[in-house]
Amino acid sequence: MKEKIRSAAAAVLLTGLILLCWQMSVKLRETIEEGKETFGSAGGSTSVIILDPGHGGKDPGKIGVNGAEEKDINLNIALKIQGILSEEGISVSMTRTSDERLADSQVEDLRERVDLINKRRPLLVVSIHQNSYSDESVKGSQVFYFKDSKEGERAAGCIQNTLGKLDPDNTKQIKANNTYYLLKNTEVPVIIAECGFLSNYEEAEKLISEEYQEEIAGAVAEGITEYVRTSSE
Ligand SMILES: [Zn+2]
Repeated sequence: MKEKIRSAAAAVLLTGLILLCWQMSVKLRETIEEGKETFGSAGGSTSVIILDPGHGGKDPGKIGVNGAEEKDINLNIALKIQGILSEEGISVSMTRTSDERLADSQVEDLRERVDLINKRRPLLVVSIHQNSYSDESVKGSQVFYFKDSKEGERAAGCIQNTLGKLDPDNTKQIKANNTYYLLKNTEVPVIIAECGFLSNYEEAEKLISEEYQEEIAGAVAEGITEYVRTSSE
């Protein structure tokens, strides 16, 4: 009798253990799936768009007449664009999501960005920057593309168009370039959006405000969405 009780208890214990293992494996699978999802939207290889906030860490980029650092404005705007695009179901990854450079030197940092882009091969890369010029009166957003890239030119047009709507006085047009390292060395369409001039006091002040960063992000996101939509037609 004692034997029977013992074996029944062992059977119950074994069933319990099997159930526990099964539950743990389900939980583990869920965690892995969640992990994959995060990876896919934040750093995976299937991203449609890569957003590249210029500079970071030791490299502040341009310094505004109001003391603003380009790297912070670039990151804030890029994160806002990421938020908008993700809500629209467009898969986005970022070259950086915090105040850090990708390598110790500026040359290495740019090389890292190019490697990352060429490995992930997105539909489009949008690099976010701010401009500066010796003539303080110069202002307005402008989008650059690699001169031999038809798709880059088309994407630049989409984004210049939506950015232009923010300021009717901005007469700047898209501009071809064949010297920027990022444009020259990438194998997919890349555009550089110079959102404004930190050398112009009025624009520099706008660029550090949350509302204007949101407006710029909204305009860039709208241009990207238009590009993605017309790419799949
Ligand atoms: Zn820059």
